[in-house]
Amino acid sequence: MKTSEIFKTKTVFSLEIFPPKRTTSIEVIYRTLDELQGINPDFISVTYGAGGSEANSTTLEIASSIKNNYGIESVAHLPCIYLDKPGVHKILRGLQSAGVENILALRGDVNPDLEPKKDFRYASDLVSFIRENGSFNLIGACYPEGHNEAPSLADDLRNLKIKVDAGVDHLITQLFFDNSYFYSFRERARAIGIDVPIEAGIMPVLNKKQIERMVSLCGVNLPRKFITMMEKYENNPAAMLDAGIAYAVDQIVDLLAHDVDGIHLYTMNNPYIAQKIYAATSVLFGTAQRSYDNTA
Ligand code: FAD
Repeated sequence: MKTSEIFKTKTVFSLEIFPPKRTTSIEVIYRTLDELQGINPDFISVTYGAGGSEANSTTLEIASSIKNNYGIESVAHLPCIYLDKPGVHKILRGLQSAGVENILALRGDVNPDLEPKKDFRYASDLVSFIRENGSFNLIGACYPEGHNEAPSLADDLRNLKIKVDAGVDHLITQLFFDNSYFYSFRERARAIGIDVPIEAGIMPVLNKKQIERMVSLCGVNLPRKFITMMEKYENNPAAMLDAGIAYAVDQIVDLLAHDVDGIHLYTMNNPYIAQKIYAATSVLFGTAQRSYDNTA
């Protein structure tokens, strides 16, 4: 099923996982997927290392298994700057024969040690190419606080409109920790005619190092409340994990109250986090029954 169809009937809840490193057996990811089974996500997306840092071929294998062995809709990420047209063609054929219908079409992060191929400069070039060469459902990335290379959020939004007009069916945001950026971004996107579903990407905090890495990579703002929480629990890993889960749940509840189209959870391949968040919010998505009724 094409993921854009799911938004027509419900608020979407999806998960993101990444393939194991080259040195790790692929079986590891199947154990993670086994543990995620009780969650009932609308789809699971699988990342793809743009600069050759991950085992790229395993993205297709895992996306295929999610769909064909686990019976869950899957999305294969596809960053294009280090690929040429024949390379993308080959990947499209592989996805098609595996029955994977959904692609997250990306430019990919620039790796200073690698020379980009010349066929695709922006994700919108890849979107146009896939539109001409298949009937995939296409997803695009977007940035509530602006992409870190864009001169301004207004410029980034104009570029996003080009990407959506090239044929994107739904969008997923980069992580953010302050929902007000998401609301303002969504309003501005709608105002310029971006009318596809926008899923909010939520990343629960595992530890301070992970967040510092994300901030330097993505340039997202950390609200005071969030910094205070990290400072309080940075030396207590168990407390930090639970505080991070509580913060993510709080973000999700607020987003659902503001009629978000969907939540995309960056699981970091950690089933404990995904299960806790699902348990706290599944009733709000309408995917689980309340275990008690206090309305009588
Ligand atoms: P684009 O949409 O091409 O935008 C990149 C920059 O170019 C932006 O600054 C934009 O404003 C500008 N731009 C776009 N079009 C034009 C134009 N026509 N003229 C001028 N400027 C333009 N990376 C991976 O390597 N693998 C993954 O699996 C992966 N998964 C991701 C999942 C999500 C949900 C998100 C949000 C990001 C993911 N990324 C992944 C990271 C992503 O590849 C980077 O953020 C990358 O730097 C930008 O990719 P993009 O597809 O948004 O690029």
